[in-house]
Amino acid sequence: MSRSLLRNVSSTCFSHSLPENIRNPMRKLPIDADYLKTTLLELLAIPSPAGLTDEIVHYTCSKLDAMGVAYELTRRGTIRAILRRTLPERRRQSPACAIVAHLDTLGAMVREIKPNGRLSLMPIGTWSSRWAEGGRVTLFTENSRYRGSVLPLLASGHVYNEAVDSQPVSWDQLELRVDEHMQCADDAARLGIQVGDMVAFDPLPEWLDNGYIVSRYLDDKAGVAALLAALKAIADSGVPVPMDCHAVFTLTEEVGSGARAVIEDDVSEVIGVDIGPVAAGQGASERGVTIPLMDSAGPHDYHLTRRLLALCKEHGIQTNRDVFRFYHSDAGAAVSAGHDVRTALLCFGTDASHGYERTHISVLVNLAELLALYIQSGPTLAEDRQRRTDTVEGFPHQLNPEQLVRQDTPLPDAGELVRPTESRSQE
Ligand SMILES: [Zn+2]
Repeated sequence: MSRSLLRNVSSTCFSHSLPENIRNPMRKLPIDADYLKTTLLELLAIPSPAGLTDEIVHYTCSKLDAMGVAYELTRRGTIRAILRRTLPERRRQSPACAIVAHLDTLGAMVREIKPNGRLSLMPIGTWSSRWAEGGRVTLFTENSRYRGSVLPLLASGHVYNEAVDSQPVSWDQLELRVDEHMQCADDAARLGIQVGDMVAFDPLPEWLDNGYIVSRYLDDKAGVAALLAALKAIADSGVPVPMDCHAVFTLTEEVGSGARAVIEDDVSEVIGVDIGPVAAGQGASERGVTIPLMDSAGPHDYHLTRRLLALCKEHGIQTNRDVFRFYHSDAGAAVSAGHDVRTALLCFGTDASHGYERTHISVLVNLAELLALYIQSGPTLAEDRQRRTDTVEGFPHQLNPEQLVRQDTPLPDAGELVRPTESRSQE
């Protein structure tokens, strides 16, 4: 495309400052930090490894009932809460946005009942057995529950001496010791323990006065709590909602499928809410909101991510840019399921992800503030009101013409370079 042609194409998308019409009505809403913390603690109290999520669905629906937000349930219990738009739509069609957080956590399942009455485990979700070692757990049978500890096979230094320190790290090197008289497989049968029983690890939450929150399963219960706090702020304040917003609570993110089946046709943009792993070399932080521009599913939507960054800048919310190399989310699941949606991911920076995780209450409040702003902001691009268009008129740009100017580096004349010196001097 020539330079002059590019100059004739009109676009407002070279920068992602917010259009005047959506900037005006938005308010940075106060977030009830006590509500957020209480909700997070209650979510942590309800075990919800993927596959054992019915109870946390009941709890989450009760929170939506309490704030007067309507919702639908799929057969398996994925929740789609719906904030209806309150501003009249001036155009014939309006898209909806979806904000997705997951209720399921990591966990384990009984794989084998050993002759000595100990239980082999298979992990639910992807996590290192290193983090399971020493965990206190509840084993759920069909009709009862038992307590126990997950131990390495060589669990006593008095017996195995230094071999304890050189035991490999793997789920095959662990076993569950149930706190009952269990010396053989028959004892397990007597107690009703079977292959396929679910194991939930104690979250062990600890709230510190300085704002740090330490627990297993902040992924993604902290995200769920932040989303509920944002919905409550919207419901309590009565601010205008310019487009339908689906707050989706999924049940199988940790095992890969997540938001694949719950994004409706009218949704044009999907925002995942999840942990941002804090580690050396990462941009994620236990301060501010972390916005990854890419994860294992590829780059997130250019326009939506830049717009979220602009919203934060405009309203004084610290942001951390990052890319995640080994990371899947509900947003990526929606795209891989075939939905034509813009995606972004909003993260709360969390140290030691999928282990004893730590974040800070200020991060969760910032995240809820941003979600409440986003819900008030309307479609990222006005043209997204159409699912298909038969003209490129109005289609956005990512680069401005100056960025596309041809770099001309003319080569010297090779003939001139090799011509004998005397023939040059004769000219
Ligand atoms: Zn997660």
